[in-house]
Amino acid sequence: MKILLLGGGGREHALAWKIAQSSKCEKLFIAPGNVGTAAIGENVDIEVNDFDEQKEFVVANHINMVVVGPEAPLVKGVYDEFKNDPRTASVPVIGPSKQGAVLEGSKDFAKDFMKRHNIPTAAYATFDGTTVEEGIKFLETLKAPYVLKADGLCAGKGVLIVPTLEEAKKEFREMLGGMFGNASAKVVVEEFLSGIECSVFVLTDGKHYQILPEAKDYKRIGEHDTGLNTGGMGSVTPVPFATQEWMKKVEDRIIRPTVDGLAADGIDYKGFIFFGLINVDGEPMVIEYNCRMGDPETESVMLRLKSDIVDLFEGVAEGNLDTKTVEFDPRAAVCVMLVSGGYPGNYTKGYPISGIDSVEGSIVFHSGTAEKDGQVVTNGGRVIAVSSYGTNKEEALQKSFTEAQKINFTGKYFRKDIGQDL
Ligand code: ATP
Repeated sequence: MKILLLGGGGREHALAWKIAQSSKCEKLFIAPGNVGTAAIGENVDIEVNDFDEQKEFVVANHINMVVVGPEAPLVKGVYDEFKNDPRTASVPVIGPSKQGAVLEGSKDFAKDFMKRHNIPTAAYATFDGTTVEEGIKFLETLKAPYVLKADGLCAGKGVLIVPTLEEAKKEFREMLGGMFGNASAKVVVEEFLSGIECSVFVLTDGKHYQILPEAKDYKRIGEHDTGLNTGGMGSVTPVPFATQEWMKKVEDRIIRPTVDGLAADGIDYKGFIFFGLINVDGEPMVIEYNCRMGDPETESVMLRLKSDIVDLFEGVAEGNLDTKTVEFDPRAAVCVMLVSGGYPGNYTKGYPISGIDSVEGSIVFHSGTAEKDGQVVTNGGRVIAVSSYGTNKEEALQKSFTEAQKINFTGKYFRKDIGQDL
């Protein structure tokens, strides 16, 4: 079949790598793609939110399936756009409907969904400009540190964890005053949970689900989780505390109630669900939902997915995902992200990248790269992911760190402590 993949980051390069391995994929297009995806399929110069152009392309090229990588087009309703247009209504879109994507697009909606369906998560309350004083009173009932979340999407920057009550009150007022524009018109105030985080991914057809390999990602720029938050500096799978017993709790208390809850609420959801979990004294709790795969988790998780991903996508589209099987590679897989100097603050783009071709035994996924006069150059904060297999995480990490040294560009930085806390 002919597949169109939407997106252009490291996650999409890893998805493209996996999709292209399927004997069911006759031709893969990526819109807009990146330097890495151009080597696997054909990049198409259409932006992820340009649904009209995407539909024209799908019709003109007889595309059989659309796979959505990032959250933005899902939250904007790409699924519904295709479904409601008679020319594309029969083309399956792998990704939730606009209503389903609200699980990621609104933290208040996600928390309310969890409360209604009895899914374990931190205690919370939501406030807006008319309930500021109630919010201040609620903060006074909580223990430090204080968790304040802008309701809407803020590119991973809308969550503040504040050490003192005074600061929390100040930040809370500022958030409601427009710190994140309309995204913080509502603010979720939440109990702080202490534990180690773990990302669990499933594919669902709206009724059945299949669980993919879990992973841990590393969000902060500095070693030992210091400094500013980034899009993600690396990932590791499997996660040692995600034992069979723990994953059974996750499935029984979180995954199944979520899929059943979506169905019970009449929400059309055929795609990935990303459960951002935290392990609190052995008990899994939900920190957040995302409506797509994680980046950089995809760059390690895809290595451990042995099953044909296009076959699984067919199961999603046809509603018979229960007849498919998901096989995991028993090896460990990791991803180490090489980033531009200065990221996540200001950084310069356009530095030539050398050494990619000398990488051996690891897989290079492009994230923020571009081609200029035949030379690959840096074109974003997160530049390249170096992913590796190993018989254990130490071996995989060693491989990624060694191969990461071979790739060079001005200002290159990567964390050398990925996976050390596991
Ligand atoms: P992302 O960058 O993953 O999209 P986000 O902005 O959607 O993040 P969350 O994932 O809800 O927001 O929160 C960001 C981070 O803040 C979490 O990964 C976690 O480390 C921390 N966090 C959020 N809620 C809590 C909580 N209740 N207790 C402790 N830490 C929390």
